[in-house]
Amino acid sequence: MNGRLSCSAVNCVHNMSGLCSANRILVNGMSAHSSSGTQCETFAEKGLKNAITHFTNINISGEIRQLMDRDGIHMYPEVGCNAVSCRYNDDRKCQADGLMIMGAHAETSDGTYCETFVL
Ligand code: SF4
Repeated sequence: MNGRLSCSAVNCVHNMSGLCSANRILVNGMSAHSSSGTQCETFAEKGLKNAITHFTNINISGEIRQLMDRDGIHMYPEVGCNAVSCRYNDDRKCQADGLMIMGAHAETSDGTYCETFVL
């Protein structure tokens, strides 16, 4: 993925003011033919337990730079994707110029979806 990842899943442990602080995420959707058939598999509900469990996938240096410079973007997760029908999917890697994950009320990955998906 070659750009900004914006995410509205504010209940996710990786969500930092609409940016994603994960080192890598996985979008699922093997049989997806629309955005609604996708989900961010890396979603984990905010909380101490998940912060500890998912610690190894947190981009610590990116978070620090992001806190020091809120106007810039310092976190670019690697995006693996199983939604092979999407036109941006190249060998299960996302090649979109920017990515929008939706999930404002998500409490599990089921409540998220990739808005950028295009057949
Ligand atoms: S839902 Fe996915 S894209 Fe959004 S912050 Fe969490 S891990 Fe990152």
